[in-house]
Amino acid sequence: MTAIEPGNGLDLLLRRGSVVDGSGAPGRVADVLVRGDRIVEVGDLAALDPGRVARVVEVAGRIVCPGFIDPHGHSDASLLLDGALISHLAQGVTTQLSGNCGASLAPVTETGRELIEREMGDLGGRVPLDWTGFADYLARVESVDLGPNVAFLEGHGTIRGAVIGPSDRAPDDQELAAMVRHLEEALDAGAIGLSSGLIYAPGIYAGYWELAALVAPVARRGALYATHMRNESAGLFDALAEAVAVAWGEEEGPARLQVSHLKAGARSVWGRAGEAVEFLEAARRDGLDVAADQYPYTAAATTLAAILPPDLLALPVDETVARLRDPAERVRARRGIAEGSGGWENMAADPGWAAIRITEAPGHRDWQGRTVPELADELGRDPVDVAFDLLADERLDVGMALECMLESDVETIMAVDWVAVCTDATGRRPGHPQLGAGVPHPRTYGTYPRVLRRYVRERGVLPLERAIAKMTSLPAERLGLARRGRIEPGWAADLVVFDPATIADTATVADPHRLPEGIELVVVNGAVAIEAGRETGARPGRLLRRGE
Ligand SMILES: [Zn+2]
Repeated sequence: MTAIEPGNGLDLLLRRGSVVDGSGAPGRVADVLVRGDRIVEVGDLAALDPGRVARVVEVAGRIVCPGFIDPHGHSDASLLLDGALISHLAQGVTTQLSGNCGASLAPVTETGRELIEREMGDLGGRVPLDWTGFADYLARVESVDLGPNVAFLEGHGTIRGAVIGPSDRAPDDQELAAMVRHLEEALDAGAIGLSSGLIYAPGIYAGYWELAALVAPVARRGALYATHMRNESAGLFDALAEAVAVAWGEEEGPARLQVSHLKAGARSVWGRAGEAVEFLEAARRDGLDVAADQYPYTAAATTLAAILPPDLLALPVDETVARLRDPAERVRARRGIAEGSGGWENMAADPGWAAIRITEAPGHRDWQGRTVPELADELGRDPVDVAFDLLADERLDVGMALECMLESDVETIMAVDWVAVCTDATGRRPGHPQLGAGVPHPRTYGTYPRVLRRYVRERGVLPLERAIAKMTSLPAERLGLARRGRIEPGWAADLVVFDPATIADTATVADPHRLPEGIELVVVNGAVAIEAGRETGARPGRLLRRGE
């Protein structure tokens, strides 16, 4: 495969595919012609001399659709190690938004450096923090050869950490003003918007007024506020109400709101996904520009530190580790987990320890893939002791999968037109010493093919054209990307060609580092980056700033 030189005449003709254009309209047989990084014609091009086109691909019987736009990713650090993001590119992702869940990698300040290093985890040692502001970070990204296009949110937790560190106190007026300044710098450098992660330290310590103050400059610019809400379990409906209230804001008028990875994520709210959807429908009827995203699995994945009572995380890592080793602290934590405490999403109680599987623990590789009770049984210890020792040994750098959703709730949310498909995953690479390590959530490699296999082809939860719209035009609109997410003349030549009869995810919980099947071509900015499921070596991706 030779890389197509942009701008050199007519570059690529996809002939007689079934074009599903991303709008939700029915597919139709058509030719798609690409010049440089743009689609130039869509229709019957039988009269065009194929000899004029650098490359002609016969795609009869295949779906030709826009490249998938992942509105919820976490590749901020991994793309600096390997810009191909092959786990995503091979699924057909041609644009990924990172900086979600309150965690971005800039600004870096002395006060906030340790929190960012904690966020980077195992990758920290390999990626020197050699930038300061958000613009510097974006410049660093632009120096990388990228597979897909990438874009970024500024993280609320990151700017809070940059100004007041890991502390659980509220910022004073000056500190809040400094946080707003950091955010405005990021937005003006090209951030798509602001993200929050209100179950994670330090975002968890923020109250309404702090969030409203930060959402104001987002609203002013028409940017996006994406939130991993304070609670996706027993407190789901309070958390939805908080997200909507913050988006309505105070003086600046409503911000555009994205509810991240919408779910009914614990036994206490199982069967109530429809009510959550209806809550947001009501906000939409009231005029709020709100939508959501979702990954197509019943398991969640996050950091094991999220099981800890929040006060244990409002400290430098060394002190948290010391507390985790303290017997009195364990008694208190055991009681806290058993009894719950105000608003804290207590995952060890609901869905419970049996739902928690260790996915990444660099110093305990043999524990990866096993549940906490399995380990506790084997060691003859209590689950609290197993989890606390592991967190202490690994200095909090432990990943977990959490089996927390009902399939019927996943399908209820999947059927909604304004819920985009997302991976909620970090870019990976099979066999890579760091990016191929651990047993990450299978969504990392399987999300988009899984929706097309399981929910479209096998279960008929939604028609193909609607599913494609939820992967393309909808997230493009949420991110405010110009002329991406549809197949139309003049729009970006980000394209996927797949076989609807064979497209399938192959990544599983036990064996997640597996690329999907049935994806034949992935085209990014006019260049073929994946062919017959394999990398071509082309790295056509770009940094997309807000409005680009
Ligand atoms: Zn999240």
